[in-house]
Amino acid sequence: MQALEILQQHNLKKTSPRLAIIEALQSSGEPLAEAEISVTMGSHYDRTTFYRSMLTLEEAGILHRIIVDKQLVKYALNPAGPNVKSQTDHAHFYCNSCKKLVCLEEIHPGPYRLPAGFQTSESEVIIKGLCNKCS
Ligand SMILES: [Zn+2]
Ligand SMILES: [Zn+2]
Repeated sequence: MQALEILQQHNLKKTSPRLAIIEALQSSGEPLAEAEISVTMGSHYDRTTFYRSMLTLEEAGILHRIIVDKQLVKYALNPAGPNVKSQTDHAHFYCNSCKKLVCLEEIHPGPYRLPAGFQTSESEVIIKGLCNKCS
């Protein structure tokens, strides 16, 4: 789907930064960090616009944010569909060697067998190791 159609589908106005962010993620096919997205955004990039656009796109359910070790932040497009995805909806894989992050859409965290009286509200699963190129 075109970036423009994605915005229209979510009733969002088209702005150059929004389009550029979606296109950057579409062409990479994997989660990207701000620095990586800013390169493809070129002149549409500035910090404030970036964060504002990301917040809007995340709230609309177009993308989700993945935070690794409380410091590395990456953004990934959600698969098309009515379900709003988040970091906690599926597991993620982080390659210790090339630092690549991958959405494992098919792997869902839990349900876990918790001790009596405990309830899960959310759980984040980040599997670390070596990806298929580095192993
Ligand atoms: Zn790797
Ligand atoms: Zn993901």
